Amino acid sequence: MPINIGIIAHIDAGKTTTSEQILFLCNKIYKVGSVDGGTTALDWMEEEQNRGITITSAAMTIAWKGQEINLIDTPGHVDFTMEVERSLRVLDGSVGIFCAVGGVEPQSETVWQQANRYQVRRLAYVNKMDRIGADFERTVADIRTKFDITPVCISVPIGKEKEFEGIIDILSMKELHFERADYGKTVIHKEIRATLRDTARYYRTQLLDVASEYSDTVAELIMDDKVPSQAQLIAGIRKGVLSDRILPIYCGSSLQSIGVHTLLDGITAFLPYPQELPPATVIDRTTQEVIPQDKRDSKVGIGLAFKSHIDTQMGLLHFIRIYHGTFKSNTIIYESNLKIKERILKLYRVSANKFEEISELNAGDIGVMVGPKHVKTGQTFCTHNVGYVLEGLDNPIPVISSTLEVNSLDQRKKLLSVLGGLHIEDPSFSYKEDEDTGQIIISGMGELHIEVIVHKLYQDYNISLRQGKPQVHYKEMPKETIRGQECIAEPHRKAGDKQAEFMFDIEIIPLHSQNTTHPLSVECDALIPLEVQEEIKSGILQDANTGIRFGYPIINTRVVIHTFEIRGKSEKKNLFLSMAASQAFHRIMRSTDSIKLEPIMKLNIVTPIETVGDAVKTINARGGIIHNTTNKSNTMDQINAEAQLKALFGFSTALRSTTKGRGTFSMEFSHFAPVDIE
Ligand code: GDP
Ligand code: MG
Repeated sequence: MPINIGIIAHIDAGKTTTSEQILFLCNKIYKVGSVDGGTTALDWMEEEQNRGITITSAAMTIAWKGQEINLIDTPGHVDFTMEVERSLRVLDGSVGIFCAVGGVEPQSETVWQQANRYQVRRLAYVNKMDRIGADFERTVADIRTKFDITPVCISVPIGKEKEFEGIIDILSMKELHFERADYGKTVIHKEIRATLRDTARYYRTQLLDVASEYSDTVAELIMDDKVPSQAQLIAGIRKGVLSDRILPIYCGSSLQSIGVHTLLDGITAFLPYPQELPPATVIDRTTQEVIPQDKRDSKVGIGLAFKSHIDTQMGLLHFIRIYHGTFKSNTIIYESNLKIKERILKLYRVSANKFEEISELNAGDIGVMVGPKHVKTGQTFCTHNVGYVLEGLDNPIPVISSTLEVNSLDQRKKLLSVLGGLHIEDPSFSYKEDEDTGQIIISGMGELHIEVIVHKLYQDYNISLRQGKPQVHYKEMPKETIRGQECIAEPHRKAGDKQAEFMFDIEIIPLHSQNTTHPLSVECDALIPLEVQEEIKSGILQDANTGIRFGYPIINTRVVIHTFEIRGKSEKKNLFLSMAASQAFHRIMRSTDSIKLEPIMKLNIVTPIETVGDAVKTINARGGIIHNTTNKSNTMDQINAEAQLKALFGFSTALRSTTKGRGTFSMEFSHFAPVDIE
C-alpha cells in the first residue's frame, strides 16, 4: 500500500530541488534537473520554468526501498491557496521544507495551519545548510515557537555554510556522508568524530526522551541501561507523529545532494499508511447527514477528483484519490451531486512525466483517470449511484477580476475555449462574458493569480489580448433578515395559466472577520417535491449571482422557502418554476436595502528591522490596520496587518522601495466588510 505525501514549503525553500533529488534517488529520473537551468521534470509548464516557481500540483508514484510513495507536488504561493488546500485534502503525510537561512516564513505558517485543519502528519526538513547564514538550531527553535509541536532532531548537520559536509544520524549514531559523484546515491557511514560526540549525545538524549514517552518498551530498556534498537525507537516516535504531537526534523542541502537519502528513510519510517488513519467522512447527498461507516454499502468505491489537467497529447486528465473500494478502467462511475454518469476509459499511475496504464485503483491509491468529461475539482465519484459525498472543500472566493479584449471573432472563440479549459484545471479561477459590453471578465484569488493566467494565455496559447486594470470584486447582502410572500403569474396571463405562490425567509448571516463568508444558500421545506426544489434553487441562485441593488453576487444570505404552491396547467412547468422563484426572490430582496461589501486582505510583511517604521507608514498610508509587529530574527521583523484590497494595488512596488528591496510580503483574503460611503 502506497503512502500519500506532499511537500509543503515557502516559495524558494527548495521544494522543486528536493523533489528532483527524491525522483533521482528513487530511480525515476536519470539525471538531476536544475531549477536555475529550467530543466526539472516536475515543473510541467513553461510558465513555471520561466518563473522558477511551482504552480500546479502533479501527483506521481515513486518507490523507496520497496515502499511505494505517491508524491503530490503542492504549490508554494499563497495566491494559489485553493490549490494547496486541494492537495492537502488528499495527503496523509507531508514534509515541510524550511530554509536554514530564512527559517519559518509567514506563508509556511499559513500552509501549516491549513495542514492542521486536514490533519496531515508531518516531518520537517531544514534545507540549504550550505548557504551563508544557515543556522540549524535557530530554525529548529523557530519551528518550536511558531508551531505547537515538539521537534525531535533525527539528523543534525556536520558543519555549515561552505563547511557543510554531511549529517549525524541520531537513530544510528553514525556520521553519514553522501557521494557527490552519484548525487547522493552512495552513503558512507563513519564513526562520529570526537569533536561532535557531545553534540550527538545531546540530541540522542532528546530523542530517547521522546521515544520513551510514547513507547513503554523503550522506556523500560532505558531504565535497565540497555540500548533500544532503531526499530524500537522509530516505533515510539512514530506514535507521537501519528498523534500529531511530535515533529521529526531532518536536515541537508538538496542542491549538494546531502541528506535527502536520509529524509526518504524518514518519510517511509514515520509518515502514515492510509489504513492507519480514521476513515474519510461520507455524507448522504439527500439528507446532508454523515453516514456512519457500518451503514455504508461496503462494495461501493468512493473517490475524490482533486486536480484536472488538460494534456496536449492525452486530453482531459483527472487526478483522483480513492478512499474506499476499487475503481476499474472501462467501468461506469457516478458523480454524487450532479448525478452525472461517466465512463472511465483508462486509469494511470504517473511517474515524473510518464504515464503507466493500470487496470484498477484501490483504496488509498492516487492515480489519473481519463474518460469522464464533466469533472470538476473537488467532486466525489462513486462506482454505484448511491449519492455518497466526501466532505468537500470550501468554495473559493475570487476577489479580483480583470477584463480581456481580443481583436477578432476567431481569437475570441479561441480565448473562450481556452478559458473553459483553465477553469476546469483550476476552479478558483473563473470567467464570464459581460452581457452589456461583451467583454470577457476573468476572476481569481489575487493579483498574481490573474497575472499568471494572462501570461499563460499569451505565452502558451498565443492569444494576443488587451487586459483591463484589475478590479476589486465586490459583493452585496441584504441589510436585515426579511420575510415575504409573493405570487408570481405567467406573463400575458390568460385564464387557467400558471401561478406560483411562495413564502420566503431571507436570513442574513452576520459578517465577522475571518472565515465567515458564506455563499448564498437555498433551503426548501421537506414537503416540496425534490424536482421542484431543484428548479426553485437554480432560479434563485442565478438571480443572486448578478446581485439586486449593486449588481454584485449576494453572499451571507440563507433563503428558506417555507411554502410553495402552483396552480394552473402543468406543461412547461419547470421552466416557469425557476423563472417564478427568481422573480419572487428579486421582489422580496427589493423590499429592503442592501449593503455593498469589499474584500479585506490579511498581510504578512517581513522587513529589515531598520525599515519597519517606513513599512508601517506605507501600510498606514493605505488605510491598513497593523495588528502586531514581532521580531523574526536578528535582522528581520514581521508585521501582521490587514487592509482593503482596493488599497493594495501596487503595494509590492511600494514596499520594495521603502525597504530597499529587502522586504517581502504575502497577502491572503481575510473577510468581506461593508464599504464606507464613497
Ligand atoms: P521552490 O520554490 O521551493 O520550488 O524552490 P526551488 O527548488 O525552486 O529552489 C529555489 C532556489 O534555491 C533555487 O535557486 C535553487 O537552486 C536554490 N536551492 C535549492 N536548494 C538549495 C540548497 O540546498 N542549497 C542552496 N545553496 N541553494 C538551494
Ligand atoms: Mg518550485
